[in-house]
Amino acid sequence: MKNYDIHKIRADFPILKREVNGKPLVYFDNGATTQKPQVVIDAITNYYTNMNSNVHRGVHYLSQISTDAFEVTRRKVQAFINAKHDYEIIITKGTTDGLNLLAHCFGKAFVTAGDEILISAMEHHSNIVPWQMLCEEKGAFLKVIPMNEQGELDMDAYKQLLSAKTKLVSVTYVSNSLGTINPIAEMIRLAHERQIPVAVDAAQAIQHIPIDVQELDADFLLFSGHKVYAPTGVGVLYGKEALLNAMPPYQGGGDMIKEVTFEKTTYNELPFKFEAGTPNIEAGICLADALDYISEIGLEEIAAYEHELLAYATAALSKVPGIRFIGTAKEKSSVISFLITGTHPYDIGVILDKLGIAVRTGHHCAQPVMDQFGIPGTIRMSLAMYNTKEEVDSLVAGLIRAANMLL
Ligand code: PMP
Repeated sequence: MKNYDIHKIRADFPILKREVNGKPLVYFDNGATTQKPQVVIDAITNYYTNMNSNVHRGVHYLSQISTDAFEVTRRKVQAFINAKHDYEIIITKGTTDGLNLLAHCFGKAFVTAGDEILISAMEHHSNIVPWQMLCEEKGAFLKVIPMNEQGELDMDAYKQLLSAKTKLVSVTYVSNSLGTINPIAEMIRLAHERQIPVAVDAAQAIQHIPIDVQELDADFLLFSGHKVYAPTGVGVLYGKEALLNAMPPYQGGGDMIKEVTFEKTTYNELPFKFEAGTPNIEAGICLADALDYISEIGLEEIAAYEHELLAYATAALSKVPGIRFIGTAKEKSSVISFLITGTHPYDIGVILDKLGIAVRTGHHCAQPVMDQFGIPGTIRMSLAMYNTKEEVDSLVAGLIRAANMLL
């Protein structure tokens, strides 16, 4: 890993220099949100200092430069995931917003009573609830691909579940609660054999795994800016042109129209048809800076570094007395969920916080996963490009200390 300059990368993230409870911050809650590099923080300041203006409206200078910058993001995202066209990139508020858009608009266009939507047993609530709401409204059925004790999807069951009734498969690329990497290319291939489109929730993949939507042949792909080192309040829904064109708009309002009269409104073309109202302009613009930052380091290099760190962390945590890993799939990315026998995750989380170590405790918006394992929640460490082996060692020491206090 000779080209991976971890010291420089850490220096790029000012928050990593701060202390929490008198201890150096160790931030292992990257699955929830990532920290921001100085270039992104500077871009936010620059936007409000030099550019602030609404997009897609004014002829005046500021509106033109903010519109241009916003559209640069669309093209940067297009390049980042290798979409065929920039208008296939819909700027949303985040993954949840995109999934609700998709359930609403795809549902209106394609789903009727008796149809089925197929999701997996390891979905985040945001890839469950919008589909449940749609199924309730339409009299359709939500089907679930089961997973085994390791937290891997049952691919035989998946093949059985794909049927003429299946209108869409919507599945996560990487599980936020277990870290499992799903065989998404194979899943798309199998669905396409039956002409079923596939939506990929890439909220936990986009920052860890290079993604090429054309190579994957994904029909839809979603992610949130804030998990990929950009600000909160912006996300992406990629969709194939033909599918997006066949779907009705989501919200009505400014920007999404061609012409409005009281009798009839005609809708704008892609991507604006799905982008009603003023977006989070600052976050939208700064997403480009975050993607540039990642691309400069190289997502392949980041992935290799994180892979090695995950292996190190798994081995180091194995030495903690009483540890029970939840999710032991062969293919994993950047998430380790676990329990310490005889303790409650929340108590461990509180003690770690006193030591300056940020982890997540609870059900991680994946209650069905917790139900399957018969547990109320887990302790979750989730890695990012700036974490180190020394930080893992601090976590291990903290866990041993917390367990000694509690047991
Ligand atoms: N899907 C997955 C797999 C996630 O991890 C998350 C965020 N935890 C979401 C969807 C929802 O993302 P957001 O809260 O940014 O809309």
